[in-house]
Amino acid sequence: MTRRNYVRRILLAAVAVLAVVAWAASSGRAAANESAKPLAGIIVGIDPGHDGGNFDDPSYINRLIWNGREWETCDTTGTETDGGYTEAQFNFNVATFLRADLQRDGARVVMTRTSNTGVGPCVNTRAQIINRAHANVAIDIHADGGPASGRGFTVLEPVADGPNDRVIGSSRRFGGDVRAAFLRMTTMPVSTYDGADGIAYRDDLAGLNLTTVPKVLVECGNMRNATDAALLTSVTFQKEIARALAAAIVAFLRR
Ligand SMILES: [Zn+2]
Repeated sequence: MTRRNYVRRILLAAVAVLAVVAWAASSGRAAANESAKPLAGIIVGIDPGHDGGNFDDPSYINRLIWNGREWETCDTTGTETDGGYTEAQFNFNVATFLRADLQRDGARVVMTRTSNTGVGPCVNTRAQIINRAHANVAIDIHADGGPASGRGFTVLEPVADGPNDRVIGSSRRFGGDVRAAFLRMTTMPVSTYDGADGIAYRDDLAGLNLTTVPKVLVECGNMRNATDAALLTSVTFQKEIARALAAAIVAFLRR
C-alpha cells in the first residue's frame, strides 16, 4: 500500500466513525424527546357513546346483549338537546379532541368508533375493544338526558361483578381524578339531580360491568337543560372538557 492510499484509508475510517457517532447522538436525542412526553408508552381507550347512524337502524341497536349482569339492548340513539344537537355528535367531538391531546402527549389511543356516521358497535363490543387493547386507562364519554331543571356532570363508576373485580379500586381513583379535573378546568358544576357530589355507582352498564381496565363513564352535562346545552354544543367547551379529561388521565397515571 502506498503511503497516500494508507492516509486515505485512515481518513475514510475516521469519517465513518464520526458519522456513526453523530447518528447515535441524534437518535439518542430523539428517544429522549419521545420518552419525555408524559404519556409515552401508554395506551388509552376512548369510547364515544352511541353513534350518529344508530337513529337509522333500530333493529341493529335493539337486539339484546349480555352486559355482565343482565340483558340490555346493543346500544341506544342517545339523547339530544331541545335544538336537535345529538349526544352522539357531542361525544364524538370530545373524543376526537381528547385523542389529539393524548397523542400529542405521546399516548397510543384506541377508539371504539372513528366516525359519527356508522351504527354501533354494541356496548359489550366496545368494552371488548378496549379490554383487548390492554389500555392502561379508559373513558366512556356521554352527555345525559335528565330533567330540564337539572344541571351538571356525573362520573359513573363500576361496581364489582366478577369481570371487573380487579379494576374497581383503580377505576374509583380515576373517577376522583376526572371529577377533580372537571371542577378545576371546566365551568360545568356537579350534577344537581344524579349521584352524590358528582359521583354515581352503576351496575347496569356493559361498559363498566365488563371492563378489565380502569374505566369510568362521564355524563358531561345535561343536554335537556338550556344552560348546560349552550355549553355542550360549543366547540370551545368541548375542547375544554377534552383538556380536563386528558389532565385527569395524566394525573391518574402519575400516581
Ligand atoms: Zn349516552
